Amino acid sequence: MDERMNGVLIVGAGPVGAVCALALQQQGVTARILEAQPQDARADTRTLALSHGSRLILERLGVWGRLENVTPITRIHISQRGALGVTRLSADELKVPALGYVLPYAVLTAALKQALTEAGIAVEHGVAVERIEAAADAATLHTSDGRARAAPLAVVADGGRGDTAPQPKFERDYDQMAVVCDVTTELPHAHQAFERFTPQGPAALLPKEDRYGLVWTASKADAERIAALPDAEFLAALQQHFGGRQGRFLSAGPRKTFPLKLAFTGSEAGNRVVRIGNAAQTLHPVAGQGFNIGLRDAWELASLAGDTPPGQIGSSAMLAAYARGRRADVIGGLGFTDFLVRTFSNDFAPLRHARGLGLLALESFPPLKTFVARRMMFGARG
Ligand SMILES: Cc1cc2nc3c(=O)[nH]c(=O)nc-3n(C[C@H](O)[C@H](O)[C@H](O)COP(=O)(O)OP(=O)(O)OC[C@H]3O[C@@H](n4cnc5c(N)ncnc54)[C@H](O)[C@@H]3O)c2cc1C
Repeated sequence: MDERMNGVLIVGAGPVGAVCALALQQQGVTARILEAQPQDARADTRTLALSHGSRLILERLGVWGRLENVTPITRIHISQRGALGVTRLSADELKVPALGYVLPYAVLTAALKQALTEAGIAVEHGVAVERIEAAADAATLHTSDGRARAAPLAVVADGGRGDTAPQPKFERDYDQMAVVCDVTTELPHAHQAFERFTPQGPAALLPKEDRYGLVWTASKADAERIAALPDAEFLAALQQHFGGRQGRFLSAGPRKTFPLKLAFTGSEAGNRVVRIGNAAQTLHPVAGQGFNIGLRDAWELASLAGDTPPGQIGSSAMLAAYARGRRADVIGGLGFTDFLVRTFSNDFAPLRHARGLGLLALESFPPLKTFVARRMMFGARG
């Protein structure tokens, strides 16, 4: 049965899809969401790092104030193992309350879910979109419940995991995986994050409530081995890898791994269909860019829809304007992240020295440091 509906249809109630629905409603545009997971799905355990720019988006949607367990990052210490060169970023220097915020994915999605309910935005749970038919005047979404729903615009925010994903336009497999878990250290974090570049890949410690969220990048084979180590051996290996800046590592929670790659699919997906968030681009987490770019995708798309006459929402002119408007931010974020991963994940001596000089230059030339930090916080409009 083909059900013709008014308003925008969003595929996926992850953070990007939910933010898009709320922002569309703020612009006076009706949206509904189809979510593959059941209503009572088990909460995901990943940790997210939000930029200051993402906080501003969530504030405007009235979601920020509902978030609990948010840990501000007020300083970031960046170094490379076995070589000179350290740079430090601080919120005071940049005149912002925090450089970023760390919170559990489940906390953000729960707050967004509540905001959607209160805003009266319909979310159909347990409905997976299996196929999208793009036509000149509407997109038709065929779903796992055997129904078809049509809309003038379909926004795909399925995290790139859905069956509807086209081949990426550009893909790079870094042969790296992230081992993630919570860890405690002898010294309190005092809201400082660490990013340490090593030839095997970057390792980050993100202050998270009374502990740290660890993101340890390694080759695929090493990551599986590291993740499977018993606690005592894992902590000893981490100590050796990370050094003693925070004293001893005392405990580690359950380890999880996830593959790291760059995949750029882009927003264009045919008539009346647009892809946003991880569905449009997947980035290595080294610079904390991917998730924040996704939120900006959602915000910018909704703002543009609000400026578009109702009969033109989803038109090829609107979708082309969206793609043009997002290009600099998305390509900039992809390029910056890819540059960091490829420049820092090796032990080639001349590069190691150049990297040291780069970190020193950043440290001793405040305008450059401000430029890089603002880029990380706000994207191309920083
Ligand atoms: C395993 C893993 C671990 C990660 N760990 C980290 C981390 O530690 N730190 C970090 O900053 N980032 C991490 N990321 C990246 C981060 O999760 C993403 O940047 C962020 O979640 C993107 O938000 P999104 O809303 O675009 O997609 P998602 O959060 O993936 O949400 C997509 C939603 O769409 C739904 N969906 C999927 N297919 C369909 C369909 N066919 N029909 C209907 N609904 C559908 C899904 O159920 C989900 O609810 C991780 C990503 C993955 C895959």
